[in-house]
Amino acid sequence: MQTLFDSRMTMADFIAALFDKLEVAGVAAITKLPSGEKTAYTLLADKDDIEDCVPYFPAMPANAARAVSKLTREAPPSKQVAVFLRPCELRALTELVKIKQALLDNLFIISFDCAGVFPFQEISLSDEAKLKAYRDAVADGKNCEGIRPVCNACTRFVPEGADIAISFIGRGLDEPLALSFPSEKGKEAAKILGLDSSDNVETSPALETLAEARKKAEGELTKKIEETLAGTDGLISVFDKCISCHACSYACPICYCKNCYFDSQTFEYFPESYFARMGEKGALRLPVDRVLFHLGRLSHMSLSCVACGMCEDVCPVNIPVAQIFKTAGTRAQALFDYIPGKNPDEPLPLLTYAETELEEFED
Ligand code: SF4
Ligand code: SF4
Ligand code: SF4
Repeated sequence: MQTLFDSRMTMADFIAALFDKLEVAGVAAITKLPSGEKTAYTLLADKDDIEDCVPYFPAMPANAARAVSKLTREAPPSKQVAVFLRPCELRALTELVKIKQALLDNLFIISFDCAGVFPFQEISLSDEAKLKAYRDAVADGKNCEGIRPVCNACTRFVPEGADIAISFIGRGLDEPLALSFPSEKGKEAAKILGLDSSDNVETSPALETLAEARKKAEGELTKKIEETLAGTDGLISVFDKCISCHACSYACPICYCKNCYFDSQTFEYFPESYFARMGEKGALRLPVDRVLFHLGRLSHMSLSCVACGMCEDVCPVNIPVAQIFKTAGTRAQALFDYIPGKNPDEPLPLLTYAETELEEFED
């Protein structure tokens, strides 16, 4: 039997083995688009396309948890599908399962320690210099210059809850894959793939180095955002540029409502209502309820925010939405001692909240 490190298994070998030996019906992963420039999260049905499959490409064209939710929400796939998810996407998927927006049946989950991604608009397959710098950073366990601020400060970049985990940091993206098999399903798969699941992948010291750098960056990001948001004026001015397009909520894996409350009839006003508000204030910025939308979104989903950065990636006016949600979310989560996506069996705080909790905030 091959051990993990003499398997010499490349990513292409691994994906081929998923089709040939695990007999999956499809593989969902980041894939090169025919233009040769951009990538998309794609469900591949054919082994012939695996050369185009680049699961570790440092971009997030969509939050994969949202894609997997669409794939499984109505019913589980009839055959096993292998899905590649970054750690934050896997945590988002766990949250979606808790709110019955996704099913795990017949999913085979593969994840990897994640060195982060660049803003989607700023990375292409032909950006050789950037990609070389990224490869070097992965091998050295450093943050690569230019990755998104939330990635730079992401401290939960090692997957929890995958069937197979791949360890790249401190090893490199072009080395034979270092695989581990945390779940029973993963261990079964190891047998089928002819690999020894009892071998533990040695933790690279580079992981620890990166974790420390990120912890420091997280502290700096929190301080910066808390200063920016200080007082009501801070919050209003940070969202001054907001054009109310709501793209941040459409891209967010956790904002799952088919009909967003803020796009509902409740927020359709008659002219008299506008005149009344204009009269009270002397002027009324249109469209209305810009800041209320963000406050509402925060109150709806900040306990489950996994700080994936997707909302910030899509914001057309460069508001640091994900940094704000990460900072506010981390605070709210600490209050309930809750880490979104960590433990699939832990119920959402909103479901277990008791009236007697948080009485200190009542006055
Ligand atoms: S937030 Fe960034 S670094 Fe963290 S898991 Fe997601 S993509 Fe990777
Ligand atoms: S609010 Fe932003 S950072 Fe948080 S889960 Fe949604 S898209 Fe990701
Ligand atoms: S994506 Fe940006 S501009 Fe659009 S609603 Fe969200 S914060 Fe405002």
